[in-house]
Amino acid sequence: MSVKVRFAPSPTGMLHVGNARTALISWLFTREKNGHFLLRVDDTDQERSKPEYEQAIEDGLRWLGIDWDDKARQRDRTEIYAEKIEQLKTDGRLYPCYETPEALDLKRKSQLSRRLPPIYDREALALSDEQIKAYEAEGRHPHWRFKLNHTPIEWNDSVRGNVKFNGADLSDPVLIREDGSPLYHICSVIDDIEYGITHVIRGEDHVSNTACHIQMFEALGASAPNFTHLPLLSDKEGAKLSKRIGSLSLKELQEDGLEPMSVVSLMARLGSSAPIEPFTDIKTVVKNFDITKFSRGTPKFDPDELVRLNGKILHDLDFDAIKDRLSEIGLNDLDAEFWNAVKPNLQLLSDVQEWWRVAKGDVTPIIEDADFIAEALALLPTTPWDEKTWMLWANAVKEKTGRKGKQLFMPLRQAITGMEHGPELASLLLLIGANNVKERLQSNKKAA
Ligand code: GLU
Repeated sequence: MSVKVRFAPSPTGMLHVGNARTALISWLFTREKNGHFLLRVDDTDQERSKPEYEQAIEDGLRWLGIDWDDKARQRDRTEIYAEKIEQLKTDGRLYPCYETPEALDLKRKSQLSRRLPPIYDREALALSDEQIKAYEAEGRHPHWRFKLNHTPIEWNDSVRGNVKFNGADLSDPVLIREDGSPLYHICSVIDDIEYGITHVIRGEDHVSNTACHIQMFEALGASAPNFTHLPLLSDKEGAKLSKRIGSLSLKELQEDGLEPMSVVSLMARLGSSAPIEPFTDIKTVVKNFDITKFSRGTPKFDPDELVRLNGKILHDLDFDAIKDRLSEIGLNDLDAEFWNAVKPNLQLLSDVQEWWRVAKGDVTPIIEDADFIAEALALLPTTPWDEKTWMLWANAVKEKTGRKGKQLFMPLRQAITGMEHGPELASLLLLIGANNVKERLQSNKKAA
């Protein structure tokens, strides 16, 4: 069977890491099976859906390396929905309800105060034709509910295993608003049928929706797809991640300078039994993807873990793979030698700018022991320099001053780079060049 999967974001906000994870897992699953991936824009909420969010979602997906074979917007499909909705009305599976939101709220509160589950009591089913006519005469328009069969509902979920519900324990879902517009549930089911979706992968906040959807598939004469409900991410402390935590929007991760592959590497494995590894090529992630490795436990998202992975990914990148990105941040003259020397010290790509400045730009040398630095300056090997220069110099300084280890290299590093950490001094000497190194070691004299 060929696999057809959709990712169905609502364009009512930015793509956040939780949604991006659902998108990525759905996409990896599809690509690993050489299937078809549909981007379906769930824009039935016309007030809250915005073209700029749709654009941001697409940009975010592309940034991660996710592509799609087809795209659909629910807004463009109202005629298709209308036809199926008529069928459900004719079959008696949709019934009109006239309760106001306030009346429904009262019902719910009263049920809760009596410790009853807040399930819709189907009062509207008992309305007589006269009552309905009277409501209509008052100018009231109904919303429409789907009449669930009070029978067992069961499915085998790829993550949750065997899931069981009973229709009697669920509220008949509202499928049509008072203004006649169809809501997410019915649009989603119709689209899943019409597009021949074989696998629905989404967050576990949809589990009870799925129970209702299964009956809608049946009511429309279709068999339900396979379902996978992924546990939602929590933050490091285990609290729920909210869409509103701006720092977790994909756009911000991008602006923070994270590599898309670090997000991909983490999200492809977080919450599964497969180890989290720094991948540099998405094709490798596709090849090794196995949805059955995901479990029901709540995965904790730790931004620090993302940054650590980011560093590891940068350390694994060859110059050719990063050349264009370096040009984009203005580092056109940076070569493979420089990249290889500094990459072990990077967490974010932008850190490379700092090392470029250290090598080529202005540095304020830190010189605490001027005599020692003067002695070291006098011992600097003659040019041309090569990879052995640092060893020669360090040995000469050691012999002359009796210093070794940190006592020896830290004052030199501080004088040459103005910093206490950084790439190997052997490489730095070459990147900075003899003239600059001399000048920095002499800067103490100038100040005196
Ligand atoms: N638009 C829905 C959401 O963002 C889609 C859920 C689904 O995959 O069916 O939650």
